[in-house]
Amino acid sequence: MQVSSLVKKLDDSKKNYRILCIIFGTVGIVLGALIIRKYWKNKLMYEEEDRRKLRIEESRRERRRRMRDDDLPENQLCVVCKANPIEIILLPCGHVCLCEDCSVDITEQCPVCRAGIEKNLLPMFYNVLFLKKCT
Ligand SMILES: [Zn+2]
Ligand SMILES: [Zn+2]
Repeated sequence: MQVSSLVKKLDDSKKNYRILCIIFGTVGIVLGALIIRKYWKNKLMYEEEDRRKLRIEESRRERRRRMRDDDLPENQLCVVCKANPIEIILLPCGHVCLCEDCSVDITEQCPVCRAGIEKNLLPMFYNVLFLKKCT
């Protein structure tokens, strides 16, 4: 094989490698951009979802605040915040001693008897129900 033809062959393969590099580089950049875009979109979506949940929770709290009676006797106030009326029944122990706001944070143990909480319910007519004394 002559030197000139060898150089030509090397030149050709160099060109091929360059083309391959450009193709793979482009594909890589496009894929990277797509992945980043998707990640970004998801992030924005989750943030929006979080904000929406916060807004809903805030408006529910606000609504409950407006509906509440201000001068309740001590034994009808939530044992945790001592500010809101009792609204939630804890199961299975049956203690009625938390307001709805506090029941969002207290999900493991009943604050009165320390029994595990399986469920907390909002009784529709809790004033009519027998209120287990929270002392
Ligand atoms: Zn409370
Ligand atoms: Zn209890």
